[in-house]
Amino acid sequence: MELLEGINIKEHDENRQGEAFAPAIDTDGIFKKHFYIESYGCAMNFADSEVVASILQQNGFGATKDLEEADLIFVNTCSIREKAEQTVRKRLTEFKRLKKTNPSLLVGVLGCMAERLKEKFLQEEKLVDLVIGPDAYRTLPQLIQEAETGQKAVNVLLSRDETYADISPVRLNSNVVNAFVSIMRGCNNMCSFCVVPFTRGRERSRDAESIVAECKDLFEKGYKEITLLGQNVDSYHYVASLPPKGGFSESDGTNPFSEKSNSGSLNSKNLSETAETQVPPLGAEGAITFALLLEKVALISPDLRVRFSTSHPKDITDDVLYTIAKYNNICNNIHLPVQSGSTRVLQLMNRTYTREWYLAKVKRIKEIIPDCGLSTDIITGFCTETEEDHQETLSLVDHCKFDLAYMYFYSERPGTLAARRFEDDVPEETKKRRLQEVIALHRGHSFESMKRDVGKTFTVLVEGVSKKNEEELYGRNDQNKVIIFPKEHYKKGDYVNVLINTCTSGTLIGQAIK
Ligand code: SAM
Ligand code: SF4
Repeated sequence: MELLEGINIKEHDENRQGEAFAPAIDTDGIFKKHFYIESYGCAMNFADSEVVASILQQNGFGATKDLEEADLIFVNTCSIREKAEQTVRKRLTEFKRLKKTNPSLLVGVLGCMAERLKEKFLQEEKLVDLVIGPDAYRTLPQLIQEAETGQKAVNVLLSRDETYADISPVRLNSNVVNAFVSIMRGCNNMCSFCVVPFTRGRERSRDAESIVAECKDLFEKGYKEITLLGQNVDSYHYVASLPPKGGFSESDGTNPFSEKSNSGSLNSKNLSETAETQVPPLGAEGAITFALLLEKVALISPDLRVRFSTSHPKDITDDVLYTIAKYNNICNNIHLPVQSGSTRVLQLMNRTYTREWYLAKVKRIKEIIPDCGLSTDIITGFCTETEEDHQETLSLVDHCKFDLAYMYFYSERPGTLAARRFEDDVPEETKKRRLQEVIALHRGHSFESMKRDVGKTFTVLVEGVSKKNEEELYGRNDQNKVIIFPKEHYKKGDYVNVLINTCTSGTLIGQAIK
């Protein structure tokens, strides 16, 4: 069995796998035809499903959570590990029964698995009618028409510039508190274990203005927390081809990066605590870096919390760290996947940093943002990993004492650099035993990290009523830890100061204070 643990919203949330989406607003009676969509994998896939929903809605299909009502079923798939693909294949067989009772029902496969397997999917899974890669969603209406005539429809073309920037995602299943916003697509890193560069194509950054506009719109609709998404957010780089029309300008004071508009900002943190803190300069020739984008989004309102995922140890800059330190509403939390503690294995993984580089980054984060929450991803049993390499991973985990970790054993993916170059030579039971050792060590640290918070007060953004007790609310603090407390008069979307009285290994428990 593959093991991982985690408690919070992150780029791959185990609790959301296979979640079927329904519209936040009731669209009953508006649409004659309905689509059902369920998503697997990382937050990018969940965000993509909202783009797909927008395209479908504009073409006369409303979302439904009821499979029996659906004219179209879509499964947005993940290829990152073999188990993710097996889960999707198993799920597809469950749709056979529906096809029997409703012969005009169409079943489509979207996302990474569609991209990886292409036409082969149609041969392997006879019940599938449509196969659509992550850059081809605009062609969905034509593909559906084609499939309605009884033909199989496929579009798996990858693009160098598609970012769906102009498409306003339909928020599905939303609690109207948190939303994901994609800032870039694809990945240019070639980590040897990873299938993403093959399934999601080249990295491209989305127009900064469209990102800020989407975030503003969400805030105006009542959302209080935005998570900016990309496989490697630190390499975000956008250069507008023309000066933005009606956009920000240095001279008229509308540029949110000018000293004038920054000064006195309500959400500025107390900079005396981080004497080195500086405002990052405007990028050369108007280029917008991730630090600048983060600042733009933070400036929308001090009441809008900003998170982001995922950072890459080779690319995260001091500018990003200073920007986090500067704004109260940018959460002090960084997801910095390490993958292995052994420099030798990191080299084979093509991660392009060493153990020492990673540790120096962690030190720098703690210098600039002393109370920063830190999470990571770890793979055990990568090709050629020895007991010594594994001990190095354990010692790195022991040193960093991550608040949260997502831990996996290595799963060879066809077509990746590792599959082509190296033998998957660590026996499965060794991979799993090492994984258990990493998990056990990390569990101790994360519990200690929870215990250290007892007696402290945190600002919690309320996300809803606790599943276990409807007299309690739950939300998260800046460092992404889940906190529950008695409801009193508070409600979803409120910011509440909560004093922590006790904890479990995954949750802080407290009470609201004035
Ligand atoms: N872009 C992010 C980064 O570089 O850290 C991660 C993206 S990937 C969707 C999420 C995590 O899945 C990775 O950090 C890695 O730990 C894990 N992963 C990716 N490929 C894997 C494989 N072949 N076997 C096991 N775990 C894998
Ligand atoms: Fe995969 Fe590496 Fe890109 Fe992350 S940075 S998506 S692990 S290739």
